[in-house]
Amino acid sequence: MNAPNKSGWKPEMQVSEDGLHNGPSTTTGNRALMLEEPLIFEIGHPETTGVDLPEIDPDAPNRLGGFDRSDPIGLVGLTEPETVRHYTRLSRQNYGIDLGFFPLGSCTMKHNPRLNEKVARLPGFADIHPLAPQQSVQGALQVIHELGDWLMKLTGMPGVAMSPKAGAHGELCGILAIRAAHTARGDARQVVLVPESAHGTNPATAAFAGYKVEDIPATPEGRVDLEAIKARLAPDVAAVMITNPNTCGLFEKDFREIADAVHAVGGYVYCDGANFNAIVGRVRPGDLGVDAMHINLHKTFSTPHGGGGPGSGPVVFSEALKDFAPLPVVRKTADDSYELVEEEGRKHRGQSFGRMTAFHGQMGMFTRALTYMLSHGADGLKQVAEDAVLNANYVLRSLEDILHAPFADSGPCMHEALFGDKDFGGGLSTLDLAKALIDEGYHPMTVYFPLVVHGAMLVEPTETESKASIDQFITAFRSVTERALAGDESMKQAPYYAPRRRLDETQAARKPKLAWQDPEPSA
Ligand SMILES: *Cc1c(COP(=O)(O)O)cnc(C)c1O
Repeated sequence: MNAPNKSGWKPEMQVSEDGLHNGPSTTTGNRALMLEEPLIFEIGHPETTGVDLPEIDPDAPNRLGGFDRSDPIGLVGLTEPETVRHYTRLSRQNYGIDLGFFPLGSCTMKHNPRLNEKVARLPGFADIHPLAPQQSVQGALQVIHELGDWLMKLTGMPGVAMSPKAGAHGELCGILAIRAAHTARGDARQVVLVPESAHGTNPATAAFAGYKVEDIPATPEGRVDLEAIKARLAPDVAAVMITNPNTCGLFEKDFREIADAVHAVGGYVYCDGANFNAIVGRVRPGDLGVDAMHINLHKTFSTPHGGGGPGSGPVVFSEALKDFAPLPVVRKTADDSYELVEEEGRKHRGQSFGRMTAFHGQMGMFTRALTYMLSHGADGLKQVAEDAVLNANYVLRSLEDILHAPFADSGPCMHEALFGDKDFGGGLSTLDLAKALIDEGYHPMTVYFPLVVHGAMLVEPTETESKASIDQFITAFRSVTERALAGDESMKQAPYYAPRRRLDETQAARKPKLAWQDPEPSA
C-alpha cells in the first residue's frame, strides 16, 4: 500500500473522456493489479531508516579520522519490502524484450539468450578490475582478442578497435581514424557526405568531429543516388558515411562502385554497420571497399540494450586505416599469452589517434557477444541473417495489401519492413496508429524514420520471433491499420489502457523534468 506522503502526491486518475474503456475510478489510482507508484522520495523519509543500527557511543574513538559526515545526506529510508516493491512496481511499468515483441526498426531488439548471462556472471569475468595486473586477467584479455578476431573474420577487415562503447561512439572512432590518416599525409579535408536516409547519428558524428556535412539524395527506389555521389566527389571530401543495409531496409547494390569512386579521390568509406544483423555471414563489408565500420554488439550479437544494459560498438578497419586505430589494443604474444598495449612504444608501429575510453571497453558485453558467436558458430550466424530477412519479408508481404509500402516494388527487403501512412482517414497519422498498438500490447515500431518516407513505420521482427508471435503482431497491426484507414476518431485518444494516457510529445522531449524537487524544502 502506498504510504501517504508529504508532497500530497496523487495518482493520475485513469478516466477517459468517453468513459468507454474505464470502470469507476479507484481511490489509490491502481487498476486491478496494475499498480501506481510515486517516486521513492515521495514514499520514503530521510528521518527513517530500513535497518536498526547500534547507537553511536559519543565517547568512542573516531574511526574515520575526522572525515565522518556531519550533515544528513537526505537519502530516504524505506524498509526492505518497501524498497523491493518500489523497484518491482517500477519495473512492471516498463516494456522489454522479455515481456513481448519489440518491433523497433533499426534497433534490432532481439532476444538475449540466457546462456550469455550465465557466462558473463562467471566470477573470472564479473569480478575483475580494469587495473588488475595483466597476468591475472589473461582469460579476459583472450576474450577481447578472440571477439576482435571474429569481428575481423566476419567483416573481412584486418583491424579492429574494441573500446568504443556504442554505435555512435564507434562512428566517432572511425571518423577520427579517417582524419588521422588524412592528417598523416598532410591532406586536411573538410567535407563528409551523408545520404539523406542516414541514421541521425551519422551527420551528428561528422559535425562533432568538425566536418561540414553535405546531404546526398536518395533515388525513388530508396537507395543512395550513385550519380549524385559521383558528381559531388572532389579532393575536399574526407569520407562518405553509408548505412548498408540502409535505413529503408534495402541493400545498397552500388556500394562497391561508390567505394571505388570515393577512393579514387583520396577519400575513405565509412559504413554504418548497425544493420549488420541482415548480412552477417552472407556479406563481408571488407569486400565492398569499406574502410571503417562500427558493429553494434548490442544489436547483431544479442547483448542487452535500451533499459537492459550498456551498448558496445567495436570498429573494424581496412588496411589503409588500421594503424590509426585507437588504443588500447590486445595483442597475442609469441608465447601465446595476451598483452594490453596501452601506449605506442617503439615496439608497435602505429599512428593511433589516441583513446576513446579510459579502459578496454564494455567487458560485460564482450563476454556475452563471444558466447553468442561461439554458441551459433559461423553457420548459425549466417542463419541469423537469413531468418531475420525472411521474417521481415513475411511482415512486408503480409501487410502491403492494406498499408502503403513505398519500396515494396524495389524487391525483397532486408531485415526490416518499411511502411507509410498514406490513405489514413480522418486526419489520423502514424502517431495515432502507434498509440493504438500500445493498447494492443505492443511496443510500437520505429516511427517517422527514415525521413524519406511520409509517416514512416519501420518494423524489425528479428530472427528471434516465432511465426506464431509474428502472426499475432500482424493481426494486431492489420486491425489498427483498418481502423486508421477508416478514420476511426477514437484512435486520436489512444492509448486507453497504458499506465499513462497520451503524453504531450513536444513537452516531454523539450521540457522533461528529470530531477525530483522537494515541494516543501525544509528550512
Ligand atoms: C542504432 C544505430 C546507430 C547508433 O547506435 P547506438 O549504439 O545507439 O549509438 C547508428 N546507426 C544505425 C543505423 C543504428 O540503427
